Amino acid sequence: MISHEQALAQFDAYFGNRLSREETRAFHAHINDCEDCRVRLRAMRAAAPAPGFTLRGAPGQDERLQAILRKNRIIMLAITAVMVCFFFLFLMKRR
Ligand SMILES: [Zn+2]
Repeated sequence: MISHEQALAQFDAYFGNRLSREETRAFHAHINDCEDCRVRLRAMRAAAPAPGFTLRGAPGQDERLQAILRKNRIIMLAITAVMVCFFFLFLMKRR
């Protein structure tokens, strides 16, 4: 059985999939008994889809994220370009 402080120290390792089977069992045993840690675990699960996600999903996930960011950047540039065009049209019309 691990203490609340030990469990708190293991949260990062748990989500990074770095706990041994024995440590994971002790961690889960504490979670079952500790409301504070249950709430914390639920909050962290909501932020990260699954334990081990960062280890296994990292490379592909990062690539997909980069692709999305790249696409968003292109969309933002396109919107800015259209806005600038409309701005100049508006200026020319006023003359
Ligand atoms: Zn606890």
